Amino acid sequence: MIRLRNSMTMAIMLLLFLASTQLRAGSTASIRVEPPFWWNGMASHELQLMVSAKDVAAMQVELNYPDVVVSEIIQVGNPDFLFINLRIGDEATAGRFELRFLKGKKQHYVYSYELKERKPGSAARRGFDNSDVIYLLMPDRFANGDLSNDNISWMREKADRSNPNGRHGGDLKGIEDHLDYFSELGVNTLWLNPVLENNMPAYSYHGYAITDFYQVDARFGSNEDYVRLTEKAHKNGLKMVMDMVFNHYGTSHWWTDNLPMKDWNNVWPEFTRSNYRGGAIMDPNASEYDKNKMLKGWFDTSMADLNQANPYVARYLIQNSIWWIEYVGLDGIRMDTYPYSDKDFMVSWMKALKAEYPHFSVVGEVWLNTPPQVAYWQDNTNNGDGFQSQLPYVFSFPLKYAITDAFNEDNGWSSGVAKLYESLSVDYLFADPLKTVTFADNHDADRIFSRLGEDLNKFKMAMGFVLTVRGVPQIYYGTELLMTGLEHEGHGFIRKDFPGGWTGDPASAFTRDGRSDEQNQAWDFMSRLIKWRSSNRVVQTGKTTHYIPDDGIYVYFRHDEKASVMVILNNNKSAKKLHTERFSESMNGYAHGVDVISRTVLTSLSTIDLEPMSVHIIELKRTK
Ligand code: CA
Repeated sequence: MIRLRNSMTMAIMLLLFLASTQLRAGSTASIRVEPPFWWNGMASHELQLMVSAKDVAAMQVELNYPDVVVSEIIQVGNPDFLFINLRIGDEATAGRFELRFLKGKKQHYVYSYELKERKPGSAARRGFDNSDVIYLLMPDRFANGDLSNDNISWMREKADRSNPNGRHGGDLKGIEDHLDYFSELGVNTLWLNPVLENNMPAYSYHGYAITDFYQVDARFGSNEDYVRLTEKAHKNGLKMVMDMVFNHYGTSHWWTDNLPMKDWNNVWPEFTRSNYRGGAIMDPNASEYDKNKMLKGWFDTSMADLNQANPYVARYLIQNSIWWIEYVGLDGIRMDTYPYSDKDFMVSWMKALKAEYPHFSVVGEVWLNTPPQVAYWQDNTNNGDGFQSQLPYVFSFPLKYAITDAFNEDNGWSSGVAKLYESLSVDYLFADPLKTVTFADNHDADRIFSRLGEDLNKFKMAMGFVLTVRGVPQIYYGTELLMTGLEHEGHGFIRKDFPGGWTGDPASAFTRDGRSDEQNQAWDFMSRLIKWRSSNRVVQTGKTTHYIPDDGIYVYFRHDEKASVMVILNNNKSAKKLHTERFSESMNGYAHGVDVISRTVLTSLSTIDLEPMSVHIIELKRTK
């Protein structure tokens, strides 16, 4: 009897199990639809869904919802993928509809698709601009706010803080917990290195090998956590910039075992690496061989190269970026490896973004060594081949090289501060020099303090320059703490943990007490300058007038008809007395000045005393 009862229980459990699997087979669990949801009231009425499910290509698709119609169903040669073009009319209200997939009369899959209500003002959002200071941080290395997500059972790489190239456990909660820190420092825009899932066996911490374009990495938190962080950041007066990667994705992506289409990736007979020579793309003398390798070669063995010339790939990426802007409430995008993607596609992408968000900001990682090569990628630049990128902002990589060299070199015709002068003297190449993002270091570069021989005076000169030169300044996390590290030691060494971000850290650099005297000197210098900059219009958007360096002293003014700021860089190991007659065209009408750093008043401007290796930033005043 007991056995019978047991077997009956077993039978009932088996039935329940079968019922539940039946339920799953007819639910969203076995079918993937991307974008997973969308909004009504978007500028574009077209939406293309990528559907992935076993044998879905052979099925009929049904949906019934007011003013949403299936305009096209496209098979792409893979039995497990189907693309569905929807037209979402103006009358479509927010709500849910069922996407049903049938063979004959039998329904195999159903997906409950949601059209969310668009937030008012969503399209009118303003991106970052010259009034902002961007703070770049690496989420894995900033602060560990949630120990429970350090290791996720199904994810390949586990936390190992002893490995410089391993995951250290930092997350979105850690950033959320320290929002006050950014306000204290004065920065008002956060650029996070990529936060999307990187379920890779190793080096997953940096985020540039995405394995799911619609999912935040569970070790950073959930999609909802990203939304919450952004809402809180906005409440704290911070803008949010998302780091996106269109050129490549992680080889552990769910696509890898069953590519949606044969030409989804750029495919080679054997692994072929990019030559990383972005200049070849617009080089009039370049060979097709070199251009092809640059564009279609893989960035790394672990990073599959996307073929953006495939219109389905293109559509997928464009919608993905719009989805994140709309879902999270982003203010800007930093686009990785800009010249490595198909450039016509990148133009289409920018046009699609502008159609939805006319005032949005995008900065492209155009990592090229000379100003003309970088300027090529900024919109409205007068290019020989007529190319118009539509991209508003580019990073100033050549200026960054000049900054890292200038204060280490003896001053000569084109060395020392002459490098800064020469960099700005070719600003005519840029359609808008103000729309360049200026920086001294980032996650791929030597820490500026190390690069400058851990010399605080040189550091102040470099940061004083970054925060007063034309452009949008970008600060790399920990630069304000004089964090050290050289790129040749390994990437892990330029991406060390922010001290105090982890429970048990010996000191917390989030507070004054946790920082050394020298760190506080650097921190105070930067905070003072950043906050001053935020309230000083002319240093944000004023015209630049500079003077050829003389005796290792470089002087420039940021000015308009109402105000002027004078910046003096004394790149000498000795004190100097600067006679200002030769700057009279810039100083005419100004009687005295206020030193922004020391807050002292300069009652006379005819001569200015300069300490060795120093920067002076002086607000000029008309009357005594
Ligand atoms: Ca964590």
